[in-house]
Amino acid sequence: MHILLVRFSSMGDVVLQTATVNWLRSLLGKEARFTFVTSSEFVSLLSGHPEIGQVIGYDRKKGEKWSDLVKKIDDLDEKDPIDLIIDLHATLRSFKLKLSFWNIPALTVDKRRWERFFLTKITNRSLKKFFSHKIFGLEPQTERIIKDFQGLFLDTRGKRRAVEFRKGPHQELTSLPLGSKKIADKPYIVIAPSASFEPKRWPVNHFVQLTEKILQMTAFNVVVLAGPEDSFCQAFNKIDDSRFFNLQGKTSLKESMEYLASSKICIGNDSGMNHIAEAYGVPCLTLFGPTDPLFGFAPHGAKSRFISKELNCKPCSTTGKKPCHRDRLYCMEEIKVDEVYSTFMEIMEAP
Ligand code: SF4
Repeated sequence: MHILLVRFSSMGDVVLQTATVNWLRSLLGKEARFTFVTSSEFVSLLSGHPEIGQVIGYDRKKGEKWSDLVKKIDDLDEKDPIDLIIDLHATLRSFKLKLSFWNIPALTVDKRRWERFFLTKITNRSLKKFFSHKIFGLEPQTERIIKDFQGLFLDTRGKRRAVEFRKGPHQELTSLPLGSKKIADKPYIVIAPSASFEPKRWPVNHFVQLTEKILQMTAFNVVVLAGPEDSFCQAFNKIDDSRFFNLQGKTSLKESMEYLASSKICIGNDSGMNHIAEAYGVPCLTLFGPTDPLFGFAPHGAKSRFISKELNCKPCSTTGKKPCHRDRLYCMEEIKVDEVYSTFMEIMEAP
């Protein structure tokens, strides 16, 4: 059976869907073949995943024509006929793709979009909690999708299946042009201060203070990972310590994954980096701002933790994109450096 899975973005969501691939493998056995369609920028996230045979990228940002994507899939279908399309994105784009291959059966994930939107409209915390789990079934996202698919595949065995990301062939850490500094000479932790939307970012000066405290109080090396567009990370440049490495804009996505896979912990926002760390079995400490663990995106690893302030105004949007409508960003600013540091230490000291 050849299955085409579709999820164009965003980084964290693409990573989370690998749990679905693992589950499908355990359900359908080794004969099943999986092809994943995603945005070109995320192809390196998935290539090398042991369960995914082929990854097809679509570069909308660089103006790739839609017809080129359809052709790539058409060619693939000719060589190895596709039996089923699983739409893990449920957007207009993925709908268009299914329409282009209307003769192939398709299943579409239920993203509980309306339910999440409804949660942003409730102002009472207890009611939010009641609705999210009891009424909307907003459980941890990886488990919820698998549960939904269990229903679609009529798999009534009800076993909890593999939800972990499987490691691809592990590579050596890339040698970066950092002179004699060796990041992995001693245990290191990753700080991931970026997020897809600005309100989802814990203030960078908080991250800087946290980094200084960790360097002062522990023996860990500290590495900052962020993309080339995250110039706000220049705020870290005031830290002058031989155990500190600001790699913002210096690593490819694949290289960032390698750093995450070998780190002791990743401390970051509700963003893709933390999902990647979790997927590698690395504990993470996730800081939630305008989004909410109630949506089902909280870390699920045994040692992972999150911090999220109980405010009536949150969640204020389904993705964290909407600008804050209050006089300041309480959801993030109320998370104090000392609280993050002590939670970090609890994770490090846990057996
Ligand atoms: S403080 Fe409240 S309204 Fe402002 S971004 Fe955070 S959750 Fe939304």
